[in-house]
Amino acid sequence: MSRSILPDLRTRTVWFLTGSQGLYGEETLRQVADQSRAVVAGLAGSPDIPVAVEWRPVLTDSTAIRRAMLDANADDAVIGVIAWMHTFSPAKMWIAGLDALQKPLLHLHTQANVELPWGEIDFDFMNLNQAAHGDREFGYIETRLGIPRTTVVGHVSDPAVTARVGSWTRAAAGRDATRGMRLARFGDNMRYVAVTEGDKTEAELRFGVQVNTWGVNDLVAAVDAVPDSAVDALVGEYLDLYDVAPVLVPGGARHASLRDGARIEAGLRAFLEEGGFAAFTDSFEDLGGLRQLPGLAVQRLMADGYGFGAEGDWKTAVLVRTAAVMGAGLPGGASLMEDYTYHLEPGNELILGAHMLEVSPALSTARASLEIHPLGIGGKDDPVRLVFTADPGPALVVALSDQRDRFRLVANVVDNVELPAPMPRLPVGRAVWKPRPDFRTSATAWLTAGAAHHTVMTTQVGVDVFRDFARMSGIELLVIDETTTIAGFENEVRWNAAYHRLAQGL
Ligand code: MN
Repeated sequence: MSRSILPDLRTRTVWFLTGSQGLYGEETLRQVADQSRAVVAGLAGSPDIPVAVEWRPVLTDSTAIRRAMLDANADDAVIGVIAWMHTFSPAKMWIAGLDALQKPLLHLHTQANVELPWGEIDFDFMNLNQAAHGDREFGYIETRLGIPRTTVVGHVSDPAVTARVGSWTRAAAGRDATRGMRLARFGDNMRYVAVTEGDKTEAELRFGVQVNTWGVNDLVAAVDAVPDSAVDALVGEYLDLYDVAPVLVPGGARHASLRDGARIEAGLRAFLEEGGFAAFTDSFEDLGGLRQLPGLAVQRLMADGYGFGAEGDWKTAVLVRTAAVMGAGLPGGASLMEDYTYHLEPGNELILGAHMLEVSPALSTARASLEIHPLGIGGKDDPVRLVFTADPGPALVVALSDQRDRFRLVANVVDNVELPAPMPRLPVGRAVWKPRPDFRTSATAWLTAGAAHHTVMTTQVGVDVFRDFARMSGIELLVIDETTTIAGFENEVRWNAAYHRLAQGL
């Protein structure tokens, strides 16, 4: 039974706005409209674009442009706007509209034809197909107004173009998800930890996320209220989905612990559903009357699209939820991850990532095993947990830290690999990866950036999506990938410090 809270991205829309002007006359404007409809059909027909693309009437004056932008702002289904200047659209007409626009913007620099009709070309053709300078006029006003946007260049029949538009729509869906996201914290941060702190008021302004705290005993009350029938149903589901350890099955010596875990899941889920929360945190230092640290429950909730951060780490919980929405419908998943320990064999360095318990099984296509083992900290009963290894393949780890005057995202492009050897004595969900460009550069850059030990690991979306998301949210992004050098990265960190202070205005 699916309890996913991931949105169906087909219910989200981006508007396609075509710019022109009245001077061309009816006949030309009809052609502009027909050709921009064809561009929209090309976008809408691409499997890379998960949202609906809606053609809007051609815009030829300031009043209509401003109205279109206000309407886009007001429509909750609209997560972004694509603009294309098919012809020449004098850009002062766009000032009021662009100034009013509050949704993400993509500037698509395209044209109707692929090839020039060399033998037939005349000046009517030139006047109709002049995005080459119409879009330059538009780019000028976007830059002059300081409008954050993503620029995509090329014909819509080019898969690189639709893929890039598609990744931008995923970022826009992430931006849409953070706006109004409600996040419940059970207890505060792990004591003395620095990087999991942050400015929750600033987060509400930048991301739109509401971060508030509930006493863990409010959660305990919800867990205690779970009827036995709900626990029975969940246990049945576990037996179907996982290889359940013999001690945990009905009649097994530790079956009561599995039932405790199921009750925690049902209670937590009920609490989150009732409050309309899409993300949450807990803290092993503050479990109140909970019998176990929630492991299985958190793992399954993440796989259903909830954001989660351990030890009160609400920033990572926001990232996990946002990445899950951005990846909706794609193979793979998004999970809390923590760089834990290294394999330092020269030339074959690897990072072993895990957490005490809370890694999402969405990172693995294999059947997980459901086990119970002691946990060294927290002072509670042994927790039940899912054990698996993330699938090999491309992945991205992203951390969010609060640099006091701004939020900073740091993303490392990595490759998950097969376990080099079985780890029978490490019964947790885990991933093993090779960071790009290499271990030494990656870790040096990560530490230089002051990036966190908690991350979201996504195996669904790439760095382009996070680049767009950072731009839409007005926050910093540092990327560590195959092009990174330490010298260049250090400079970027230094220059970003100046840029982000100046960009906030004097
Ligand atoms: Mn941790």
